[in-house]
Amino acid sequence: LMHLTRKLIEIRSMLLSIDQSDALKLPSIVVIGSQSSGKSSVLEAIVGHEFLPKGNNMVTRRPIELTLIHTPPQNGQTPVEYGEFPGLGLGKITNFADIQRILTDLNLAVPTSDAVSNEPIDLRIHSPNVPDLTLIDLPGYVQLSSLDQPETLKEKIAALCDKYIREPNIILAVCAADVDLANSPALRASRKVDPLGLRTIGVITKMDLVPPEQGATILAGNRYPLHLGYVGVVAKSSGKKGKKESTAVVAQRGEEDYFGSHKDVYGSSTSLMVGTDTLRRRLMEVLESSMASSLHGITNAVQLELEEATYQFKVQYNDRRITAESYVAETMDALKLRFKQFTEQFRRPVIRAKLKGMLDDKVMDVLEQLYWLDKRAAELGALGADPKLKPEDVEPYWRHKLEAASSLLTKSGVGRDSTLLVADGLRALIDSIASSEPFNFHPQASERLIQFSHMILRDRIGVTSDQVENCIKPYKYEIEVEPREWEIGRQKAIELFEKEVAMCESKLQEIRKKVGGGRRLGGLVNYVKSLEEKEKERKSRMLESPAIEEPDQTPESYRYPPAQILDARHAMLYSDRLAILKLRLLALKSKRCRAGPESDVLCPEAFLNVVADKLAYTSAMFINIELLDQFFYQFPREIDSRLLYDLDRREIEAFARENPAVRRHLDLQERKDKLEEVMKQLNSLSTLRADPQPAPRRH
Ligand code: GDP
Repeated sequence: LMHLTRKLIEIRSMLLSIDQSDALKLPSIVVIGSQSSGKSSVLEAIVGHEFLPKGNNMVTRRPIELTLIHTPPQNGQTPVEYGEFPGLGLGKITNFADIQRILTDLNLAVPTSDAVSNEPIDLRIHSPNVPDLTLIDLPGYVQLSSLDQPETLKEKIAALCDKYIREPNIILAVCAADVDLANSPALRASRKVDPLGLRTIGVITKMDLVPPEQGATILAGNRYPLHLGYVGVVAKSSGKKGKKESTAVVAQRGEEDYFGSHKDVYGSSTSLMVGTDTLRRRLMEVLESSMASSLHGITNAVQLELEEATYQFKVQYNDRRITAESYVAETMDALKLRFKQFTEQFRRPVIRAKLKGMLDDKVMDVLEQLYWLDKRAAELGALGADPKLKPEDVEPYWRHKLEAASSLLTKSGVGRDSTLLVADGLRALIDSIASSEPFNFHPQASERLIQFSHMILRDRIGVTSDQVENCIKPYKYEIEVEPREWEIGRQKAIELFEKEVAMCESKLQEIRKKVGGGRRLGGLVNYVKSLEEKEKERKSRMLESPAIEEPDQTPESYRYPPAQILDARHAMLYSDRLAILKLRLLALKSKRCRAGPESDVLCPEAFLNVVADKLAYTSAMFINIELLDQFFYQFPREIDSRLLYDLDRREIEAFARENPAVRRHLDLQERKDKLEEVMKQLNSLSTLRADPQPAPRRH
């Protein structure tokens, strides 16, 4: 039976690590009592060491799950006593003063505003001097609220105790002999959940403080009967402490002396239970039989849970097992693969097309700036229309314009702009990887990913844009255009202009719809034009005779709302642009323009398109060498060396668990594994229990 309790204590802590639900709980002994009832002294007497936090303030702020593990002497050698905190990873602690210090620190770490915490501290003590027991030490009941303790403290502690004294736990109600049992909060709480005292043991401390007869009356328990009875103890050392003796040893001697000197009342001829040894044995018995009677129920409960977990694991994951390590490795591989796929978007033709698009916009800007706003723009059309005209006859004015336009384009900072365009593309790519699954679950890794890729880019941007700028330098001085290139440029320019025409038309259409039809827009435009006329007249009049101040003319009436006037102005801009675009399209398609590069002055659009194409080609080439190749080489290496390279086991586990799907998978898998293990242990116990011979009761 001894073996059974020990096994079940092990199983109990495994079950606790599976889940905290009541269904999977094996009994433990819960120690309750009011402050100063002698609760700590009793626990220390059982363990044989001073190890609990001391002080006038309430120092037990968190439940202590105390597991005692009996280590029998082996080969005549007495094993070393030690404690360990499994949750803290501090290893074996042989000095009990250290245990006391750690418990005090853990208690003090609970914020004063919270006063108590529900989170238990797991402490295991291995010793040849302890029985196999599990005890839970709870904060002592507060009887008088004091000023420096929060109002709710009393209720908080009561609630915490209520949670622990539920079935199947055994209640150890600690009361001091010198305080009327009627006033014991421990007994009162126990009676609420266990009215017959079937699972409550009373411990009466400070027996030395009352006359033996009075003590005996209390222990007889006639006033507040408990099925499991009362045990009287003297847990305080009164004698002198020898050099090598522990406080507990001295205390024990004091207790023996006390009860020994009152044999008439407490002797073995009486049925009263006294002394720490008796208490220990009693606790073992009660825990054993309680555990044994829980065995059947818990086996069934574990069986049910295991079946459910196995079923879920099959249904949800098709029995596929994973580990945190495998998840990390898969994630990194997937990242590299994803990156590789994305790099397709950065192949040279794609980049060239992107750069060309940017340069096309620049060309449009240059054309608008240099040609369309030019008052003589109409002349250019006329020149193109005249078939007798030879390019060399063309006015130097237009020749000059073309050179200016070309140089505006080549000197517009193409190196920097094109490099930044591609770098921005790379950044957006990384950002999208970093913010999508699974990296959205891993904020730190995602941050690091962004950080190092931006760093690689920062390192390359300067070099690359200088290099590109350098390589397009020749175009700033001279541009030779082959007939084939010219034809392509002309076609492209036509395409571009047709697109622009379509865009202007759809904008106009939009405005027309918005203001309520073409006729209304016409009216609006006429109105705006007349306003502009008047304004012009007024200005010229003022120029002629500036002395005469005209009175501020308020418009005769607001015939249209201001928003519509703005629409009309936009419409006018679009139709002006349309007119020019259409004229220029005609020119681009004319015989003259088709003739070839010698028509460059007449068809600046075609010429600039060729220039833009050359710039895009050269830029793409050098961006590829200086930026993309470098980035694509470095990125996967940085993943290996920076992203997850120095994680230890714990961090790998934490990383994997950041992903909720993986966490659920791991949780279920672990739950199933643990339940299987528990089931195995329980099954091995049932062979023990199959022994038909009833185990002898020890006293
Ligand atoms: P807790 O607050 O319930 O943990 O109580 P403690 O174990 O700290 O004990 C409170 C006080 O009662 C301490 O000063 C102990 O020395 C004293 N005390 C505990 N047990 C006994 C006992 O059996 N006899 C006597 N005389 N004093 C005791």
